Amino acid sequence: MKRLTQLFALLLMLTSCGRGAKDNEQPHAEIADMMIINAKVAVMDEQRSMAEAIAIKDGLVAATGSIEAVSKWKGDSTTVIDAGGKTIIPGLNDSHLHLTRGGRFFNAELRWDGVKSLKKALQMLKEQAERTPEGQWVRVIGGWSPFQFEEKRFPTPEEINEATGNVPAYVLFLYSRAWLNQAGLNVLGIDENTSAPEGSSFEKGPDGKLTGVLLAEPNPTILYARIGSLPPLSEDEMVNSTKHFYRELNRFGVTSGIDAGGGGHKFPKDYSGTKTLAEAGKMPLRLSYYLFPQNKGAEYAEFQEWMATNEIGQNGEIHLEHGYELEGGGEFLAWSAGDFENFLAPQPLLDERPTWRADLKKVIQLHVDKGWPFRIHATYGETIAKMLDVIEEVNRETNGKLAQQRWLFDHAETIKMEDLDRIKALNGGIAVQARMAYAGEFFVERYGAEKAKQAPPVKKMMEAGLPVGAGTDGTRVASYNPWPALYWLITGKTVGDLRLSDDTNLLSREDALHLYTKGSAWISKEEDVKGTLEVGKYADLSLLSKDYFSIPAEQIKDLKSVLTVVGGEIVYGDEEFEDMSPKLPEVIPAWSPVKFYGGYQTN
Ligand SMILES: [Zn+2]
Repeated sequence: MKRLTQLFALLLMLTSCGRGAKDNEQPHAEIADMMIINAKVAVMDEQRSMAEAIAIKDGLVAATGSIEAVSKWKGDSTTVIDAGGKTIIPGLNDSHLHLTRGGRFFNAELRWDGVKSLKKALQMLKEQAERTPEGQWVRVIGGWSPFQFEEKRFPTPEEINEATGNVPAYVLFLYSRAWLNQAGLNVLGIDENTSAPEGSSFEKGPDGKLTGVLLAEPNPTILYARIGSLPPLSEDEMVNSTKHFYRELNRFGVTSGIDAGGGGHKFPKDYSGTKTLAEAGKMPLRLSYYLFPQNKGAEYAEFQEWMATNEIGQNGEIHLEHGYELEGGGEFLAWSAGDFENFLAPQPLLDERPTWRADLKKVIQLHVDKGWPFRIHATYGETIAKMLDVIEEVNRETNGKLAQQRWLFDHAETIKMEDLDRIKALNGGIAVQARMAYAGEFFVERYGAEKAKQAPPVKKMMEAGLPVGAGTDGTRVASYNPWPALYWLITGKTVGDLRLSDDTNLLSREDALHLYTKGSAWISKEEDVKGTLEVGKYADLSLLSKDYFSIPAEQIKDLKSVLTVVGGEIVYGDEEFEDMSPKLPEVIPAWSPVKFYGGYQTN
């Protein structure tokens, strides 16, 4: 009742504002397209100010403040949404997510993301096998941890075979190992005589027979190659799949993502799903992408060709016509310099590959010459220290030109403290992701709990004054859901609830959110146009299912959005806002696991 009288009083005041209120309360010259009132708006400006309402015009934030103040923007054409006291945050921006590849495969993949028991996961596998047509596969491609399961263990080859029978199946765990069932081994013609790429193996049982388990030790090529040999979706199915994947991201409040390319993902051919959406003006999120070379040893030529035929840095129109912008090169610049983050296997050392330094240097020089930003995948401190020697050298040889360009390291789980200052001196940044939330238990097993306390040292990166962005590295080495990642930044815990970080490496909720919004915007040179809800910024926001700032920390990983807005347009609605959600076409193909389970399992 009380809420109703308040609402009535509120509406009364709104209508009075619209039509000639008293002099000092003159309505605003301009009329807002949308206003959200009765909210807890986290503006995320320097002062971390909170507001009751927000007005949006032409895709930009027009005003935030008290309901009364913001109501001055109301006109007859203004859409007014009552948030019912819920919390609004700036749209989340995952600055390292394999979006275009994720979209390409989403409808073909059974997601174990968020599944709470192995029993349930195997049941889903069984059901999916029963509906999978001839010629197709059941596939689970990363994004889960055995420690998220109450059983706290991996599936066995027997369990996989029992669940899938004669339907070929492939189950990937991060870039560490995978399970092929017998039917899959047969289809791919793999047997005891098949040789594995160097640094990997096909596991054999005591009887000398293949178990179906593929082991990256640490070379994940054995895993990549199988993914690449699975039957692709059709062009139409890929577009539909991309739509549903981006909707899934909107479901968690993601309004921007920065694509880090990825193995087995050729530009421009494999980006067609997203390109089709962008050209049709149907992108429900903003996407900047970095280019990842596919040809080992020929990366330089690949970049030369891309630089000759593509332009970067046009973070153009605020409307979503082209929320799809080329940003630069990476996350791989040279395969020989790639240090895979497989904590179930020994750390790869750069010097085991004689050409890494020359390969990396010439590609970095090319980026500096062409003015292209670049990002570099680097997990271990030893790798980063050596790479910094090369980067400092190129900077010297280009008279400091490199340091005037945007560049960053990705991951940096075991970066050395002294190297933070070296990056700072070169105006570089770091993008961190929640990979430890999915592999932390194995990291501790191999490197010990002490080393895990500052892996990565996110707080120290911020204290060093470095630009830091946050994300997941989804969809394979972590789930794409941002909330387990924010949970990890704030609590230092894995999705299996193992505490990794010590107190000095835990972020406040405000700081974690800052990294996942404005911090990430730095990685696509958009820190001046988005990442907060200050006046003039992109009106990208999410209305949350619960109050991020006051709920028990445990509940943070289960948060989701109930209303997601990009450029002032509603791209997703749920619960009381479900009717506002733009309709999507039905999931295709008809056997798609997404049609039956969706993506991340929230319950
Ligand atoms: Zn990476």
